[in-house]
Amino acid sequence: MNKTSIPLRSGSLTSKQALLTILLAILISVIAGSVELFNHALSMRQNVAQRVEQQLAIVSGAAAEAAFQLNPDLAHQIAYGLFSDNEIAEVAIRDDFGSPLSEFAPTEAVESSWLSQRLFGDMLHYQIPLNYYVAVDLPEAVVGEVELRLDEQRLTQQFLDRSISVVGSSVLEAFILSLLIIAFFHYFITRPLLKVHDAIAHADPERPGEWDKPQLRGHRHDELGHLVDSLDHLLQAFQQGLDQRDQLHHLSHIDGLTGVANRRHFDLFYQQQWKRAKRGAQPFSVIFIDIDNFKEFNDHYGHAMGDDTLRAVAQVLNNCIDPAHDLLARYGGEEFVCVLPNQDEAAALDVAQRLRRAVLSLAIPHAYSSTHTHLTASMGVASTSAQTTLSAAALLAQADQHLYHAKHLGRNRIETRSRTA
Ligand code: GH3
Ligand code: MG
Ligand code: MG
Repeated sequence: MNKTSIPLRSGSLTSKQALLTILLAILISVIAGSVELFNHALSMRQNVAQRVEQQLAIVSGAAAEAAFQLNPDLAHQIAYGLFSDNEIAEVAIRDDFGSPLSEFAPTEAVESSWLSQRLFGDMLHYQIPLNYYVAVDLPEAVVGEVELRLDEQRLTQQFLDRSISVVGSSVLEAFILSLLIIAFFHYFITRPLLKVHDAIAHADPERPGEWDKPQLRGHRHDELGHLVDSLDHLLQAFQQGLDQRDQLHHLSHIDGLTGVANRRHFDLFYQQQWKRAKRGAQPFSVIFIDIDNFKEFNDHYGHAMGDDTLRAVAQVLNNCIDPAHDLLARYGGEEFVCVLPNQDEAAALDVAQRLRRAVLSLAIPHAYSSTHTHLTASMGVASTSAQTTLSAAALLAQADQHLYHAKHLGRNRIETRSRTA
C-alpha cells in the first residue's frame, strides 16, 4: 500500500468537521451555561433573602427594645452589627414617629445597573416594623421600624464572578470534548476516507483494476468497508471493459494470419505520419514488398505451407524495422508495406536491403520459382522530401510502380526512382 501522507487542508473534511464540532460545542456550552447561570441566580436570590430574614429575626427583639426605650446607643450597636454584613449597604432604625435612632449609609451614592436591577431589583429593600409587648396583658404595639437596603453592586459582582467561572469551565469542557470528538472522527472516519481517496487518486487510469485497495482495519463490515468493496467491484468492471476494448483494438489493427499490422492499421498510420512529415517538413519513405512467384509456391507446396511461409516472412520483415518509429503491415495477400517516417531515400534503401536479405536468410526452398531456387521478394521504394509536392496516394502509387519494375526486371530486387539496387 502507498504510504502517502494525508495533509490536513483548509476546506478538507477534517477541518469542516472540526469547525462544525467547535461551533456546536460552543452553542451547547452557551445554552448549558445560561441554564446553569439562571439556576445560580435563583439560588443566590433565595440564599440572600434567607440570610437577611434570619439576621432581621435575630435583631428584631433588641431593635424593638431600643426603639421602645428610645435608646440610640443600643440602636447604634444593632444597626452597626447589621451594617457590618458585606451585603447590606444601608441600615436605619427608627422610633414609632419615624425619627432615626441610628443610621448607616455609604459615603458615596451607589450606582444602579440594568443587570443588578434585573437580578435583584425586587429584593433590595427591607422595611419591617418593630413590635414590642409594652405590658403583659396588652397586645404587641409597633414601636418603630428597621429599614435595610442591600448592596446591589456587591451582589451583582458576586454573581458575575461566579458567572465567569461557570461559563469559563463550561467553555473549557466543551473545547476539550470537541477536541476529543474531532480526533475520534478524524481517526475513525475522515482518515479512512482519505485513504480511500488516496488509493483512487493513485490508481493508474489505464489499469484501474490494479488499484491499491485500502485495507481499513476495523471497518471491514461497516459502511466504509462496503464502500471500498463497491469501489473495487466498480473498478474491476472498468478494468474488464478496458481489457475488452484493448482486445478489440488489437484485433481490429492486427492481421490474423501473420500477427503484424493489418491494412486498416497501415491506412491510419500512413495518413497520420504523412501529415506529421508534411507539418515538420521531414522526409518520408514507403516500401512495397511482394513475395516472388508465390502462386507457384502455393500451388506446389500447398496453401497451409503458404500460410506458414507468409507468417515466417512477416516475422523476419518485422524484425528489421524499428517498431518505435516505423511500421510493417500486411497490405494484402502476399504483399507487405513498410512505412518509414522521417527517413529519406538512402535510409529507406538500406532498410529495403535488410528486408530483402532477411527473406533470403529464411532459405525457404522454392523449386517451382521461375527465377530463383529459394523464396525471394521484390521491393519498390518511394520517398518524398520537403521540396517535393507529392500527395500521400501518389507516393504509394510510385512505390507500387517501382515494385512492378522490380518484378519486370527479374525479381529479388529493389527498385527506386533514382537508381536500382
Ligand atoms: P509475382 O512474383 O509476380 O508476385 O507472382 P505471384 O505468384 O507472387 O503473384 P500473384 O499475385 O499472381 O499471386 C499471389 C498469390 O499469393 C496468390 C495466392 O495463391 C497467394 N496468396 C495470397 N494470399 C494468400 C494467403 O493468405 N495464404 C496463402 N497461402 N497464399 C496466399
Ligand atoms: Mg507475389
Ligand atoms: Mg502480389
